[in-house]
Amino acid sequence: MRKILKATISKKVEEALITMNHTLKDNFVARLKKAQAEENSALAKSIINDVLHNQDIAKEGVFPLCQDTGMVVVFADVGYEVMIEGNLEDAINEGAANAYVRGFLRKSVVAHPFKRENTKTNTPIIYHERRVEGNKIHLKIAAKGAGSENMSRVFMLKPTEGEAGVIDAVIKTVREAGGRACPPITVGVGLGGNLEKSALLAKEALFRDLDDTHDDPTIATLEKTLYEKLNETGVGPMGVGGKTTCLAVKINTFPMHIASLPVAVNIQCHASRHTEVTL
Ligand code: SF4
Repeated sequence: MRKILKATISKKVEEALITMNHTLKDNFVARLKKAQAEENSALAKSIINDVLHNQDIAKEGVFPLCQDTGMVVVFADVGYEVMIEGNLEDAINEGAANAYVRGFLRKSVVAHPFKRENTKTNTPIIYHERRVEGNKIHLKIAAKGAGSENMSRVFMLKPTEGEAGVIDAVIKTVREAGGRACPPITVGVGLGGNLEKSALLAKEALFRDLDDTHDDPTIATLEKTLYEKLNETGVGPMGVGGKTTCLAVKINTFPMHIASLPVAVNIQCHASRHTEVTL
């Protein structure tokens, strides 16, 4: 068994959250630059320019990418041969609280649906754990702003609605989101499972590398089709119109009941804060 100290985990999470709130991934920035070069609309070009300028300022480490620094979501893959000193979820919560307090990031979590008191630490995080082979802990960490999260949807389609039904559901979601999801967006789609599993698939799909290609050729083609169709909607950067609505579509799948075709659409705004940490 390999022992990992709670303090080691907390510190890694703290550092990851502060860094990701100030830095977009290189291939995300490259896609923004390519989109800006290809836009026809002067206003759309200017909005993407603002997004690029904003991330230049954020990476200096003083101001975060957005005033909404998000609610933290963690997918933890925990090796059977790891012994954790203390509780892993507590360690991650501690790291998140330290990041938001020490890093001067906005605390956006309220404790009760109606009383709405701020917890003042941006915790609790939303935590998902799986046990896996090996002696490591792998954490996928996201900070999800409410603008795009609020525009995400789950549809329980009939199997006969098939691929056309899936395309309609994703396009309807992105059209209804419009500028409120702060495009250019990336779109995570969960196909299969059930109500909650499809939402988790969609959320985890957003961790995939923007430049990867799905192993299943049918799904890879659907990702490309959706990417093209979403950019034909005309929503454009921040909803001002243009051909840059979406930078990528990533679909994750899971087996499902014979009578179901769940489709979840998790929208990610241009402040895409996703990172991975291995301990
Ligand atoms: S949706 Fe994203 S970019 Fe827009 S306000 Fe929220 S976190 Fe910021």
